[in-house]
Amino acid sequence: MEGGCFCGAVRYSVSGPPFAAEYCHCRMCQKSTGAMTIASLDDPNLVKPTRHIFTDSQVRWLNIDDDCKRFPEGLAKSSG
Ligand SMILES: [Zn+2]
Repeated sequence: MEGGCFCGAVRYSVSGPPFAAEYCHCRMCQKSTGAMTIASLDDPNLVKPTRHIFTDSQVRWLNIDDDCKRFPEGLAKSSG
């Protein structure tokens, strides 16, 4: 899989399978990207997120309607 940044200055390739595909709802990700890094792939459909992390800080207007596991405080403090 290949991807890159919006302006095209950075390109990368990935040869292994994804190991942590997730939706992160933390404030840092909200402010810095507004989306998950999966979206930087040339074809973001190649990797499907499997969990939501930091859902305690997700925006209130977002209704999560999928079967992915939820980790309110991230992976370190939550059991799923
Ligand atoms: Zn985050």
